[in-house]
Amino acid sequence: MDVVLIALGGTISVRARGQEGRLTGAEITAAVPGLEELDTRLDVRDVRSVPSGSLTFGQILDVVAIAAEAVAAGAGGVVVTQGTDTLEETAFLVDLVWPHEAPFVLTGAMRQPAMAGADGPANVLAAVLVAAAREARGRGALVVLNDEIHAARWVRKTHSTSPATFASPSTGPLGRVVEGRVRMLLDAPRRPPWPADVDRERLDRARVALHVVTLDDDGTQLDGLAATHAGLVVAGFGAGHVPGVLAARLGALAERMPVVLTSRTGSGSVLRHTYQAPGSESDLRRRGLIDGGFLDPYKARVLLRLLLATGSGRAGIEDAFALMG
Ligand code: GLU
Repeated sequence: MDVVLIALGGTISVRARGQEGRLTGAEITAAVPGLEELDTRLDVRDVRSVPSGSLTFGQILDVVAIAAEAVAAGAGGVVVTQGTDTLEETAFLVDLVWPHEAPFVLTGAMRQPAMAGADGPANVLAAVLVAAAREARGRGALVVLNDEIHAARWVRKTHSTSPATFASPSTGPLGRVVEGRVRMLLDAPRRPPWPADVDRERLDRARVALHVVTLDDDGTQLDGLAATHAGLVVAGFGAGHVPGVLAARLGALAERMPVVLTSRTGSGSVLRHTYQAPGSESDLRRRGLIDGGFLDPYKARVLLRLLLATGSGRAGIEDAFALMG
C-alpha cells in the first residue's frame, strides 16, 4: 500500500532552539520508530512550511488537488502533517470536498520534536496506519492524534497545550489505534461532497465574518459588515440566543446576506423553537437566521464560505445547513 504524506509545517516541524528553518517531511518521518517496518511505502511531499494559523482555504484546496492526483496515481491513503491550531477547520474543509474512498488523515503535534515526550512521531505512525487501513476507507477526512481517530465533522481542539487536546465532544472518537491495529468503533454518515475546484476569485470574495456574542453586546462591531462580507456566523449564547437589542440588527443583516446561528458553548446543537423572547432562537429564525444545528461556529464558517464560493443561493445554503448541521 502506498500512502502520500504531505507536510505543511506546524509544531511537528519546529527545530530545536537555535537551529534554522523547519524539519522537512522526510526528517519528520525519519524520526518515527516503527514506520519503516510497516508494509506501507510513503511518498513524502513538502508543500508548505508555516504555522497553521497562516494557512488559507485556497492552500488547503491545493493540497486536496495534490492528494487527489496521488490517489488517482494509485495511493491508497493520504496523511497531512500540519499545525494543530487550525486543524479542526482545515480537516472539515477537506471533508466537505473529498470525494474518494481513500482515507484523508490529518495529524500534527502539541509538543515540539526536541521536547520531552514529543507526540509527533506517535501521531504520524498512527496517522499512516489509519491512512492505509481498509477499515478507515470511505469515511472522508479523519483527524488522528493521541491514538484516537476523529471525524473531521465533529472534532475540536479543546485545550491550548495538552497532547489530548483533540476531542469530539458531541460524539466521541470514531475509533482508536490499539497495538498498531486500527479499530473503528462508530459509523459517521457521509454526505455527498461539494466540488473541490472552487473558483479562487469567488473564494476571495466569499468573506464570512464570525461574531461571538457577549454579555451586554450592543452589536456595534457589526456596523458596516454588509459592505465587506458576504456572510456571517453568529456564535450565540447557550442554545442560540443573543441580547434582545441585537435581534433586529441581525435580522436586518439576514435580509442582505446569509446569517447562520450557532452556539458559543463548544458542544451540543442550537435549538429551533423552545424559547420565544426577543433574541431567542425562535425570534432569530423568524428574522431569517439559518439554524447551524450541531455545527460549531468555526465549522459553520467553513461551510458557509465554501457554499458562497461555489455559488449556492439562499435555498442551497439552507439545505446544506439542514443536512450538515
Ligand atoms: N501550534 C502552531 C500551529 O498550529 C505551531 C506554530 C508554529 O509551527 O510555529 O501551527
